[in-house]
Amino acid sequence: MSELEFHTLLVQGVFLVAALTVPALLFISAPYGRHARGGWGPQMDTRLAWMVMESPSVLWFSAVFFAGAHAWSLVPLLLLVLWQSHYVQRAFIFPLKIRPGGLTPVSVVAMGFAFNLVNAYVNARWVSEFGRYELSWLLDPRLWLGVGLFVLGYRINRRADAVLAALRRPGETGYKIPRGGLYELISCPNYFGELLEWTGWAIATWSVAGLSFAVFTAANLVPRALSHHKWYKQKFPDYPPGRKAVIPFVL
Ligand code: NDP
Repeated sequence: MSELEFHTLLVQGVFLVAALTVPALLFISAPYGRHARGGWGPQMDTRLAWMVMESPSVLWFSAVFFAGAHAWSLVPLLLLVLWQSHYVQRAFIFPLKIRPGGLTPVSVVAMGFAFNLVNAYVNARWVSEFGRYELSWLLDPRLWLGVGLFVLGYRINRRADAVLAALRRPGETGYKIPRGGLYELISCPNYFGELLEWTGWAIATWSVAGLSFAVFTAANLVPRALSHHKWYKQKFPDYPPGRKAVIPFVL
C-alpha cells in the first residue's frame, strides 16, 4: 500500500468515526465537565488532560508538516499559521484559563489523543505533501472565503470561552447562565465558533482531509451542544426560552 492510499484510508476512517460518534453522543454525553460521572476509569487533572490531548495537534502536526516536500511554499505556510493559531492556544493557553482542580477520565484523554494523532497527520500531510497549493491558490476566492470563516470562528470561539472563564470567581466551581453577545442567541457559541473554524479550514484547503475534520467536529460538538442546552434548561428555570443550542435561530 502506498502512503497516499494509507492516507486515504485514514480519511475514510475519520468519516466513519464521525458517523458512529453522532448516535453514540446523542445517547451518552462525553463524561467530562458538567456531564462528568463515575464509571469511566481513573481520572487525571483536567488542565493537564487538555494539554496532553491537544499536544499532537501542535507538535506532531509540525513534525509531519515540515517533513513534506512543499513545507516551505507560501500557501502551505499560511495554512500552517492558521492551524497553529488555533492549536497553540487550545493546547497550551486555554488549559491555564479554566478552573484548576477539575478531573477528566484518562479514557477520554486517550481517545482525544489518538484522534488528534490521526487528524494532525491527515491534515499536515495533505497540506505540505499530497495537496497541490501553487501560488495561484492565493488568487482563489475559496482560500480567502475559508480564511475569513476560520478567523470569524476563531474570534467567536475565543470570546465565548473567555465569557465562560469569567463566570467563576477564584475557587468557585458551580455554573451560571452566560450572557451577552452570541450567548443571547445560543447556549454554546464556543462550539459554533469551532464549527465555523473547521468549515473554513475545509474550504481554504479544499480537501477531503479538511472536510473530514469539519464533519467530525460537527459530529462531536452538535450532540454535546444539545446536551448542554438541555442541561441548562433543566438546571435553570429562568433560562432564556428563546435561546437555541448551537446554530442561531436554527438548532
Ligand atoms: P464547555 O463549554 O463545556 O466548557 C468550557 C469551560 O467553561 C470549562 O472549564 C467549563 O467548566 C466552563 N463552563 C462552561 N459553562 C459554564 C457555566 N455555565 N458556568 C461556569 N463555567 C462554565 O466546553 P468544552 O470543555 O467541551 O470545550 C472547551 C473548548 O474546546 C471549546 O472551545 C470547544 O469548542 C473546544 N472543543 C473542540 C472539539 C473539537 O472537536 N474540535 C471537541 C471538544 C472541545 P467545567 O469543566 O467545570 O464544566
